[in-house]
Amino acid sequence: MPYLHDPDDLASLIGDGPSYRVDQLRGWLYETPVLGADEMTNLPKDLRERLEPLWPFEVEMEQSADGGATRKWLFRAPDGAAFEAVLMGYPRRVTLCISSQAGCALGCTFCATGQFGFERHLQAGEIVAQVAYARAFLRKFGLPGSPDRLTNVVFMGMGEPLANYDRVREAIRRMIEVMGMSARSITVSTVGMVPGIKRLTDEPWPVSLAVSLHAADDDLRSTLVPINRRYPIADLVAAADRYYEKKGRRVSLEWTMMDGVNDTDDQAVKLAGIARELRAHVNLIALNPTPLSPNKASAEPRIERFARLLGDLGVNVTVRDTRGKDIDAACGQLRIRSGHRQKVG
Ligand code: SF4
Repeated sequence: MPYLHDPDDLASLIGDGPSYRVDQLRGWLYETPVLGADEMTNLPKDLRERLEPLWPFEVEMEQSADGGATRKWLFRAPDGAAFEAVLMGYPRRVTLCISSQAGCALGCTFCATGQFGFERHLQAGEIVAQVAYARAFLRKFGLPGSPDRLTNVVFMGMGEPLANYDRVREAIRRMIEVMGMSARSITVSTVGMVPGIKRLTDEPWPVSLAVSLHAADDDLRSTLVPINRRYPIADLVAAADRYYEKKGRRVSLEWTMMDGVNDTDDQAVKLAGIARELRAHVNLIALNPTPLSPNKASAEPRIERFARLLGDLGVNVTVRDTRGKDIDAACGQLRIRSGHRQKVG
């Protein structure tokens, strides 16, 4: 499984072959990825055979929605760990949402992944392989009405990326330094791991930072996002502000709209205060309800009113599309359907 090897140390996979094979192999894995080693046309057959299985996971389930513009995969590692990635095509960009952990320990009440607890951290190679797989898929099949190359990667799948800091950092390094992606095209989304934001602030790459806020006061936020008890909003905002100051990258605030929970005028006014302080952009998205969650999505007029209120208060706001409603596209949902193998609780 070559993606589990450090891309700077592929020589052991080549064996006695000439040294230029290392560069050829690195090219096939990271620059122009292919779905199977048999497509690595300039490598000898015996080497191609030795490189299989190419991927550090099997594709257990694949679903398509939105007229083919959304593609979702459930990956299963040899040890049974399951994680998901969603590829979303738009007229001028293609975004891949990737997982950083199998499961998640943080237990956010509205999240399918959070309801099943933590399975394990993903290795850097397992994270990068999701990106390589999507690139290989796009090269071979494309998505209708979208560019045939991956333009953005967001860590918004399963897991809290900053709780798996070192492996996520290494995956980001490989995406930028080996795959040639721009740091700005990579978004790390956190639910509020303040120490991780501080570490990310000191990294050399200006990756985009998204904070999943979901509530604008500590009482409400602690009921939705339990980690808020450890890192309250004031600390989170201070860390995000330092990130903005140091990187010159505007932070975005993610807000999942839940009916009667966080879609009130009062929350909009409080959110506007935080967004203005951070000069942040706010993304609103209707909850993609999960089978075990008590919450429902806010109704469209309510979302529109919330967005209008934010706009009137001087905040840049976007109402995001929910992609793949018909295919359980919220993170963790496909895994529920397939039957998770981990111990719950
Ligand atoms: S929302 Fe993110 S941090 Fe919270 S439980 Fe789900 S995966 Fe974990």
